[in-house]
Amino acid sequence: MAFEGLADRLQETLRKIRGKGKVTEADVKEMMREVRLALLEADVNFKVVRDFVNRVKERAVGQEVLKSLTPGQQVIKVVNEELTALMGGENAKLAVSQRPPTVIMMVGLQGAGKTTTTGKLAKYLQKQNRNPLLVAADIYRPAAIKQLEVLGERLNVPVFSLGDKESPVEIAKKAIEQAKEQHNDYVLIDTAGRLHIDETLMGELNQIKEAVNPEEILLVVDAMTGQDAVNVAQSFNDQLDITGVILTKLDGDTRGGAALSVKAVTGQPIKFVGMGEKLEALEPFHPDRMASRILGMGDVLTLIEKAQQEVDKEKAKELERKIRKMEFTFDDFLEQLEQVRNMGPLDELLGMLPGAGKVKGLKDLKVDEKKLKQVEAIVRSMTKEEKQNPEIINASRRKRIAQGSGTSVQDVNRLLKQFQDMKKMMKQMANMAGKKKKRKGFK
Ligand code: GDP
Repeated sequence: MAFEGLADRLQETLRKIRGKGKVTEADVKEMMREVRLALLEADVNFKVVRDFVNRVKERAVGQEVLKSLTPGQQVIKVVNEELTALMGGENAKLAVSQRPPTVIMMVGLQGAGKTTTTGKLAKYLQKQNRNPLLVAADIYRPAAIKQLEVLGERLNVPVFSLGDKESPVEIAKKAIEQAKEQHNDYVLIDTAGRLHIDETLMGELNQIKEAVNPEEILLVVDAMTGQDAVNVAQSFNDQLDITGVILTKLDGDTRGGAALSVKAVTGQPIKFVGMGEKLEALEPFHPDRMASRILGMGDVLTLIEKAQQEVDKEKAKELERKIRKMEFTFDDFLEQLEQVRNMGPLDELLGMLPGAGKVKGLKDLKVDEKKLKQVEAIVRSMTKEEKQNPEIINASRRKRIAQGSGTSVQDVNRLLKQFQDMKKMMKQMANMAGKKKKRKGFK
């Protein structure tokens, strides 16, 4: 999970101060010493840490906190607000041109995830009912052109490519012409990457920039490289005037230093974060929600958005009906499993719940894809009849299912028991919901 260490340490520190009815300057000093260490350990730029600590300190010993009735909670509010401000305050939205197409140059060093992210962004735009065109302008790496074409095919998004003979500037210009003719409202130009920043690369990127005058120049950087990512962002910004950053591989970045430093160091906002290799794994970056996640207050809004995007509404309604009528079967169970999976890794999802950091063992949960696969295998080894009527699964059927799914009879027993318990719980919940409705009806 992203920000693991920082979240743990900050939450521990803040817990000590939360309930205090009186907060002294010494308390604040002690707390800020720990906050400072936590941030440095998370690989946040040291100047950023210094400024941050000073700002919080100033506010925490000020009137707004000391005079309040709940100074402990007030301090946490200050930390939350300052963390949010540090990451840019508001969600920085993607530009949209008054005269389409909106042209976006994707830039970044090799391996940062630029091409993958270009595909993810295309998918994101598609979901917003946009009609993007991908442009293969990395002519030095034939594999990059191919990679983009494959992505385009998977997403059913057109890819403009002229092979590796034309210059990137020509390719970009012609792509925009085509986009106008074919009514693509976004043009995403995948430019060349290098292993290091060099003059030739910057020269070429500047030429493309001048030729096509893009609304956005989005720099893709790898969160796992920590402060290197921030330095790269600074160089690109100095030489190219980027308009925003996309931070990839935040799913694997347990420290989070880059996410916390980019805006403060470069002045440019993080617009999106990459949370995995799948094409759905791109999230708009909301500083307030991220701060809330770090402080263990959860990020219910993102969770709800994900659920809205990934869960089939018709199916959800059908499910509700089944639960009410107690017709929930193993087939529905499998379908549920699939839908939750589509939303992303379970530990990531659970991490968005308030107080999740405090739940012991959540981190080790790593919600065991292996276990889920096992469950799936067991259900798939059932006959149609068994899935609809689990009651008929007797000892010999259990043995057969265990064999068919490569598990043990105990595993099968456990799942059947869990399923029964779940059904019981659903019945109770349905009853409760029913009663509530009735009561409302009487009023
Ligand atoms: P490019 O050289 O910058 O175009 O990089 P690629 O798009 O080829 O990506 C390099 C590697 O990073 C690939 O294996 C991607 O699957 C992986 N990658 C990209 N974004 C993410 C992300 O957000 N999370 C994870 N875990 N992997 C990512």
